[in-house]
Formats: sequence, structure tokens, C-alpha cells
Amino acid sequence: MFKKFLFFFLFIFLASALAQDTIANLRIEKKAGVAYADGIDLGKKLKMQMFWHSEANILQIGTSSWAWDNEWANIKDTSFLLQTPVQNGINGKQSFWLPLPSSLQVFERMLNKTLEYDSSSAKIIAVQIKDIWSVNLDAKNNGEVIELKFLKPFAAEAFYVQPNYILRINGAAIDSTMFLDLAKKSAFISKVFSIQDKQSAQLTLVLRDNCENPELVKKDGGKILQIVLRKKQTAGQQKAIAPETSTQGINSIGKKIKTIVIDPGHGGKDPGAIGHAGLREKDVVLAVGLKLKSKLEASGFSVKMTRSTDKFINLEERPKMASDWGGDLFISLHCNAIEGKEKQQKTDGFKFYILRAGGSEEDRAIARRENRAVALEAGKKDKTEISPAEWIVLDNQLALYAERSALLAGHLVEAFDGGSIKKLQTGAGQAGFMVLVGAYMPAVLAELGFITSPTDGAFLATEKGQNEIADRLVKAVTSFAK
Ligand SMILES: [Zn+2]
Repeated sequence: MFKKFLFFFLFIFLASALAQDTIANLRIEKKAGVAYADGIDLGKKLKMQMFWHSEANILQIGTSSWAWDNEWANIKDTSFLLQTPVQNGINGKQSFWLPLPSSLQVFERMLNKTLEYDSSSAKIIAVQIKDIWSVNLDAKNNGEVIELKFLKPFAAEAFYVQPNYILRINGAAIDSTMFLDLAKKSAFISKVFSIQDKQSAQLTLVLRDNCENPELVKKDGGKILQIVLRKKQTAGQQKAIAPETSTQGINSIGKKIKTIVIDPGHGGKDPGAIGHAGLREKDVVLAVGLKLKSKLEASGFSVKMTRSTDKFINLEERPKMASDWGGDLFISLHCNAIEGKEKQQKTDGFKFYILRAGGSEEDRAIARRENRAVALEAGKKDKTEISPAEWIVLDNQLALYAERSALLAGHLVEAFDGGSIKKLQTGAGQAGFMVLVGAYMPAVLAELGFITSPTDGAFLATEKGQNEIADRLVKAVTSFAK
């Protein structure tokens, strides 16, 4: 199911890309996993004027300037941080090698286009920004009104999943640079993200907690959208007077953490890792999951389980079930494992993972092991890593939930600190766990301890141990939900 979903989006991504301006035949070189574009070649293809100030070793492309071994590019007085410094020579080829995709933000600013680098085809897709006319912030006594004016009407909807206020504008192209100053100017917005895909533009405002009940107001048949942010009233204050706008808000949802989805890993024909004294991961995580369910229910949460018996469920079905149930939190329970007698004796500890690219090689190896359950499905080939193109498609989910998921992982580490199972490294990590893909809610994969460790394994096998783990999970969920 997940793959079908993925191909559908990839198809749209590629098909609509053909209708856009595509910059192909780029000179690309790779170094330490990062792709670099030849800056001189790229400048030519973007039809920009270039100068090389040889005495200062600065390449000027349009109004931007670039220097070797420097991780900042500048346009006038604005500096842009690149993911790695500009390289002089790569694989023996000398030029100004600009890291992708971070250097594209500079060109976007100069060209008023969005530029997407598609690493699988080594092409840049340029989309002219044309739909949005202006972005204005109007500060009032009791709040702020952010007004977006468009050249024609668009259908839009908004969702509020604290602290993210998400505005989706169907069919519109937005210029991400128009929102750059918003967080600086606003008293209520801490960060702004925008995502452009071919069907819609999505703007996410990360709101501070001095703001409440954001609302979307449509005017002029959809040519004007106003986001109304109200100042939070402290106890004793009078009810806020709405900023001077009408308030036929649509689809503003303030959502509390209510439904927890517990996902005991593996099951049925997939035993998971086999550990100390033949202990099976699938049995341990089910036992912990069932205890966790009753404890969370006793704390007033509503709980759903992807499995409550020893049965096999496809990896990609699990987050889908959670999203279909309208879950507010997804916790996938697992036990870690390591090979080799000697390593098994001395490797133990818990670690909580979120879905995000670019983890350590060690963390990616753990993800590959957990993703191996995919291979047990009939007719599917062994695929244990998320490809770069798939990460692009995942952008939406990651932008919406990565931050909240990381926060949840933080609460988990805190709740487990000082327990019977010690912390593995920092206790939190990130990697491409397939079981978290498609969970549209904060989601964490818990490696509760090493099933292959004599100490962790013995603890994980007992009622007492499983109860302690469930109690600590409840503690973390409760403090996160506050
Ligand atoms: Zn597992």
C-alpha cells in the first residue's frame, strides 16, 4: 500500500516536472555523500552574469558571491548558510563546486523561482512564482493578522496541530522567500516552513504559546487569506476582542493528545530479534504493549493497538492504521539486538528513534534490521532503506511532525533515565524506519533494550521489568501530552 502511494506521488512529481522549466545536463560531482553543482556551469544555465574576482578568489553569480572553503553565500547584506562549504576541486576537477540543495536558496532569491534539485535525475526543476501577490503582517493590540493576497482565488484549508498552524493552498505556487521575515516580525511565530509541491503550496507557522485559536478568514472569494493570531489571555483578563476581521474561519482544528496508538513490532511469522535464552522480540513487545495499554487507559487516554495478539502485520499497514484511527501519537515497540557473543555480553541500553534522514551509520544499521520485516512479505523484494527520492516525497510528513516527534523522544529519554536499563549513547536517534512512514502524527520507534544482552534480556523477560518499562512510557506520554 505504501509503495503504491509513493509511486502515485512520484508520478505526479515527475509528470508535472516535465511541464516546468527543467535544467538538465548539469555538471554534478559527489563528495562524502553530498552532491555539488559546478557553479560556473549552473550560472550559465540559469542565464546569469558572472564575474570571477581572481585576486580575492570570489565568484560572483548575478548579485550573489561565493568563495572557496566558505559555507556562506551572500547577496548584498544577506547571508545564506550552505550545508557544506564551497569546494575548490572535487575528484580532480577544479571549479566553484556548490553544495546541493542548499545553494539553490540563493538562486531562488535572485530569480523569484522555486528550484528543486531532483537527485535521482540530477536535474533542477524551476517553477516561476506567480500566484502570490503580497504577504503582510498587521500587528494589533490583541493579536496579529497575516494577510496573503493572490492574483486569483484559491481554495485553502488550515489545520492546527499545536504548535503547528498549517495552511494548504490548493493549486498555488508560493515564493518561500516572501515568508522569510515573518518569524522576525511576528510576536507569535517562532518559525516558518513552506513546502511547494505540484498540487498545493503548504505554509507551516510554528506558533509560540503566547498565541491561541488561530483562525483562517477568506475574503474576496478566496483572493485574500487572512491568518488571525490571537494573543493568549491570562486568567482574570477579559475575553479577547477579535482583531478587526470577520471570523468565518474554516477548518481550524485545535487537537489535544487523546488517542495513543501502540504498535508492538513484528508478530506471527516474524519473531523479530531472538535474544538471550531464546527470548523473542515479538513476545516481549506484545507483553509490554498490553501492559502499556491498560496503564494509559487508566490515565484517561484512549488506546488503539496495531496488534494485540501474535499475528503478522505488514510494516506499512501499521502507520496507516494509526492514521485511519485518527491517532495523536504513535509508539512502535521494539528490542535492539547485536551479533557476536562478546558484543552481546557488553552491549545494552535503550534508544528512541524518530523518522528523519541522515542518522549515524550505526543507527541506519538498526533501521535496516527493523525494516527487514518487509522482506517477509510475499512477492516483495528485500528493500531495507528509504531512497533519496522517497525522502523528497516524505517532506510533508517530516516538516509537520519531525519536531514534535523529537520532542516526544526527549520526554521518553527523560522518563527512562535512571531506570533499570541504561541509556545507549544519548538515548535518542534518527533514521529511515519504514514503520514510521505515513504516520501523520508524532511518532517514535522505541528500542526498549538489547534482547541479546544477558542483563537487558533478563529484565525484558520479567513481569516486573515489563511493568517498569510500561510505567516509564506512560510517564513520558503524560508529560508530552501536557
Ligand atoms: Zn524490531
